[in-house]
Amino acid sequence: MTPAKRKITVLPGDGIGPEVVDSALEIIQATGVAVEFEKCEAGARAFAKGIVTGIPKETIESIERTRVVLKGPLETPIGHGNRSANVTLRTLFETYGNIRPVRELPGVHTAFTGRQLDIVIVRENIEDLYAGIEYMQTPGVAESLKLISREGCEKIVKLAFAFAIAEGRKAVHCATKSNILKLTEGLLQHTFEELAPQYPSITSKHILIDNAAHQLAMRPEQFDVIVTTNMNGDILSDLTSGLTGGLGFAPSANIGNDVSIFEAVHGSAPDIAGKNKANPTALILSAAMMLRQISEGKAANDVEQAVLVTLESGIRTSDMLGSEQPTSTTDFTREVISNLGKTSKVSPPKKYTNVELPAARPGVNVVPAKSRKLTGVDIYIESDLEPNALASDLEGLTSSSPLTLQMITNRGAIVFPSMGRGVSLVDHYRCRFVLRDASSGLGESDILSLLGSIGVGHRWMHVEKLQEFDGEQAYSKSQV
Ligand code: NAD
Repeated sequence: MTPAKRKITVLPGDGIGPEVVDSALEIIQATGVAVEFEKCEAGARAFAKGIVTGIPKETIESIERTRVVLKGPLETPIGHGNRSANVTLRTLFETYGNIRPVRELPGVHTAFTGRQLDIVIVRENIEDLYAGIEYMQTPGVAESLKLISREGCEKIVKLAFAFAIAEGRKAVHCATKSNILKLTEGLLQHTFEELAPQYPSITSKHILIDNAAHQLAMRPEQFDVIVTTNMNGDILSDLTSGLTGGLGFAPSANIGNDVSIFEAVHGSAPDIAGKNKANPTALILSAAMMLRQISEGKAANDVEQAVLVTLESGIRTSDMLGSEQPTSTTDFTREVISNLGKTSKVSPPKKYTNVELPAARPGVNVVPAKSRKLTGVDIYIESDLEPNALASDLEGLTSSSPLTLQMITNRGAIVFPSMGRGVSLVDHYRCRFVLRDASSGLGESDILSLLGSIGVGHRWMHVEKLQEFDGEQAYSKSQV
């Protein structure tokens, strides 16, 4: 009996998606690997049918069955209220890790040619600002919540080290903005520093994200694997793809506990869609990553090598630097197929082992605190009053509360008590209330009655409790 073929969900996507996806599918089929494709809809066509997520039910069911997706880019509709179908897919299937490798490719000349770049960005993929939790707090002030969890940090750090080990890599950098965002970005840094000793064969180092960007432009060859938060990783990985020839060459894998989605880093490139001009390399290399993940290592190596041999032979699509006579997408595909089985002269196959994914922890993941204390509350107020006038109003309204006004900030700068500086003000104030008597306890009812008193005279729109966990202040200090 012939063994059942491994099913793969294929989302051709929008713009150049169907062209580059078809290229990858033809190449996969030419390797002779036993796979079967379930082509499904997602993106622009689904939005046009009124499916608000851009992902039809049938597509979700296919992914739940196959658990492996090869995906073309999906357009993000522009306008209020429309979510990105890409973000929906990542969130729905909790593909928490985005692996974006780039390397020097033969025949693809860049400013860094000869430096043997081989860098992987491991990007946290579902938390951070990309959770897209946003509010207009006043008609003129917008807010976005940057949520980072210990659980999310552990998973991405473990994935980065597991990937480094599977690929025989030497070093992992953790890039964050922890000097400014001490609690959110700092959580990734601390988790990284805590877990790194468990991987003694790998060198580990923290680097600030802005320095990482600078170093990547100056001396990119010093980097091997870089693990980082979602938005930083999005930006940094476009930068690294630029170092090695551009978006047309940058593959990626979105790794989850149950589902993995393989796609090019680039978008739908509407400017060249339907012209048979797109460079399919990024999607073909994504397909190779997919083959490796489904334990088809030989086919993965064959595809990668065939791409390298094709590039070595001087075949180029229109996006390649210095390309005078560009090859079409379909001709490039034919060349890759004809090179299957050949080995690159400059970059022979690497040795890979399976990536040991961190185990999923079911249920609600809790970081316990031995002690916790409620010490005050920040209340966000919309007001057109000057800071001193607002302060005296609030003091009047809350005179009988156990909480007293400690300070007011405007976009992070302290404006009450006055620092004697001219701050350009907006109608959005953070008003911090703390216990008048620090030795007394603070209860929920005190906060509720404080809000009631303030609501008599002001619009408030957001409340944050000030807490201490295990004696540590669990909120940021104010900037002066
Ligand atoms: P883009 O990546 O589509 O295009 C940027 C530039 O790179 C364009 O000039 C394009 O022609 C070129 N380019 C990209 N891929 C190429 C390839 N394979 N071969 C040759 N040239 C290529 O970025 P964009 O224009 O900002 O985005 C277009 C749409 O794609 C937007 O709707 C965006 O939301 C979406 N998008 C989707 C994904 C995804 O599905 N993962 C990723 C990024 C952007």
